[in-house]
Amino acid sequence: MTTTQRFATTCIHAGQQPDLLSGALMTPVYFTSTYIQEGLNQHRGYEYARTRNPTRDAVEGNLAALEGAEFGVAFASGLAATQAVLELLSSGDHLVLGDNVYGGTFRLVDKIMSRFGLTYTQVDTSDLAALRAAIQPHTKLVMLETPTNPMLGLTDIEAVRGLLKELGAPAILAVDNTFATPFNQRPLELGADLVFHSTTKYLNGHSDSIGGVVVTNSAELSERLHFIQNAAGAILSPMESWLVLRGTKTLHLRMERHNANALQIARWLEQRKDLKSVYYPGLESHPQHELAKRQMKGFSGIVSFDTGDAERTRRMAATFKIFALAESLGGVESLICHPVSMTHGSVPEGDRAKLGITDSLLRLSVGVEDVRDLIEDLEQALKA
Ligand SMILES: *Cc1c(COP(=O)(O)O)cnc(C)c1O
Repeated sequence: MTTTQRFATTCIHAGQQPDLLSGALMTPVYFTSTYIQEGLNQHRGYEYARTRNPTRDAVEGNLAALEGAEFGVAFASGLAATQAVLELLSSGDHLVLGDNVYGGTFRLVDKIMSRFGLTYTQVDTSDLAALRAAIQPHTKLVMLETPTNPMLGLTDIEAVRGLLKELGAPAILAVDNTFATPFNQRPLELGADLVFHSTTKYLNGHSDSIGGVVVTNSAELSERLHFIQNAAGAILSPMESWLVLRGTKTLHLRMERHNANALQIARWLEQRKDLKSVYYPGLESHPQHELAKRQMKGFSGIVSFDTGDAERTRRMAATFKIFALAESLGGVESLICHPVSMTHGSVPEGDRAKLGITDSLLRLSVGVEDVRDLIEDLEQALKA
């Protein structure tokens, strides 16, 4: 891979080369647990498949390149990747966590990692004054998401990097880029140290695998993450690695359509008179639209809207014909989610209310179908 390659070419080729044995153009799925050694201490870099697998190597190289990173480390799920990032810390360290991060991320920190002596502060990372106040001398990690789920709030990554620098804080800045994808936003270029993903969502893109990845330009962090990957063992399987590789070959095409469909739907929803609010960073009415334009190339496929009427929302949820009522996001097919009763059920009611996650809120994962069919589906559901 040359550094001058454009994104679409990187999607299709990075990390991969024709199979050395057969010339197979597509990376084989290496279903093996071990590798023959020619003699004592003589092998081809592969000894045991928890440590290294050629299919996983390929997807790690591919995903790293997409984020403009040198190193990638793939895990069994997005949360396994998140846990590996947290395992860079030690007992007694403090971390700052966005106040609207993925529920599973909060649960992992609050219910598991905190039992091992990590302390944390949750804060609205878009509020630099609040973030400044949350940083302590022993803060070793700032972990944030932008855009957030399901409220689509943004954090200025460059500004957070600037703040950490100004404070001389030794904290690693880690950004969950699952919602934006590297097609739309490249946090490493904005000053993040680590970017992590649930590949389950847009990177794989077909709702048929669970996986995660952490990428970085720091050789030191990469080495420590590979150590954790091997020592703790939450690796991405060869089959899942192959599925993600297949997925990223069309990432640029899918994201173009996700971006376009979602923007059109957000605009269509916004001009209706019967909705209380529409949340989408690509709308001029989004309070951080200027930041969105500066930080993102496109605004991705998630749109949330609030009917202002919980009864109506609950009635609507089951009337869609194309949008499937389901958790998750980022696949080619459109999904609809009622956060309060689905993804955000475990968030305490008071916290939900503070974030704006009401009973009357719906979140769309806009797929790559014909947008006219999606709008017709929304129209009939809004009438129901
Ligand atoms: C889904 C998701 C995760 C967790 O990923 P899994 O693959 O489900 O473990 C983390 N962060 C975000 C933003 C997600 O959407």
